[in-house]
Amino acid sequence: MSFSQEIKQQALQLGFDACGICRATGSGEEERYMEWLRDHCQGTMGYLERNIDKRLDPRLLVEDARSIISVALNYYPPVKLPGRVPQFAYYAYGKDYHDVVREKLRQLYDWIRERHPGVTGRCFTDSAPVLERFWAAQAGLGFIGKNTLLIIPGKGSYFFLGELIIDMELDYDQPVTESCGDCTRCLRSCPTGAIDRPYRVNARNCISYQTIEHKGEISPDILPNLRNNIYGCDICQKVCPWNREATPHATPDFLPSAAFLSLDLEQLQEMDEECWRQIFRHSAVKRARFAGLKRNVEAVSKSRGK
Ligand code: SF4
Ligand code: SF4
Repeated sequence: MSFSQEIKQQALQLGFDACGICRATGSGEEERYMEWLRDHCQGTMGYLERNIDKRLDPRLLVEDARSIISVALNYYPPVKLPGRVPQFAYYAYGKDYHDVVREKLRQLYDWIRERHPGVTGRCFTDSAPVLERFWAAQAGLGFIGKNTLLIIPGKGSYFFLGELIIDMELDYDQPVTESCGDCTRCLRSCPTGAIDRPYRVNARNCISYQTIEHKGEISPDILPNLRNNIYGCDICQKVCPWNREATPHATPDFLPSAAFLSLDLEQLQEMDEECWRQIFRHSAVKRARFAGLKRNVEAVSKSRGK
């Protein structure tokens, strides 16, 4: 077995659901990315306007980068909030994925360095300017769907992604040949028209952006179509036919607490900061802060007429 195959096998043993490897090169994504920025699709996420050269070329991010080891970790929940209560995006049900994925990547890096002590590199998971979905597709994990998410054939799109970029040459995988084909379900189902054309999301119109990243009031254009989404939105994943093949994750850290699963609109309306801290202390929901969650509760309450 080659060392590249051993790395992939080790990644699966650490709990990742998929692992592929591609060469670290320039991405060639400049035109598409710059057009997206020019059209202000990033909203107020100013960090997306910085370090563009590094984002487009990982060799500027990691010295002597040769290989990108791309990994995916399933977060499709085995148990879900009832449909009648305000919805949190599935990825936010359990412990903050940054901590979980980073720890597993760190273990994979240590495993590589035990065998090749001279190797150096860096681990990333939604933590630096890296085109994660692009590199996952290059590494043969799956393809990018019209909803802009990475779709793993036979497994769906409910996956966290991470990368280990190292200065060692490895064997490289080929991109997969599957695609969305003629399907347009996500474009037709997005309640706010945020997928303004195939393979492009205008974050300003996206419920995920408005309820998580955006500070200040939720856009009045989005408010009437917020539906029951209190933190993030999974609609363009739920309608995707590839997710019929999604199976529940096997990562204990992502299991929701009983307190989380019992949340309903009334409890969220009455929740104080101490209670919020207790329930979401280790969760990615911290990102919206207490004030942000309260803003979302109020918005969903209004849209329900309560
Ligand atoms: S997350 Fe929701 S609002 Fe955003 S693009 Fe998908 S369906 Fe539309
Ligand atoms: S819903 Fe259809 S068009 Fe959208 S990502 Fe899934 S397969 Fe592609």
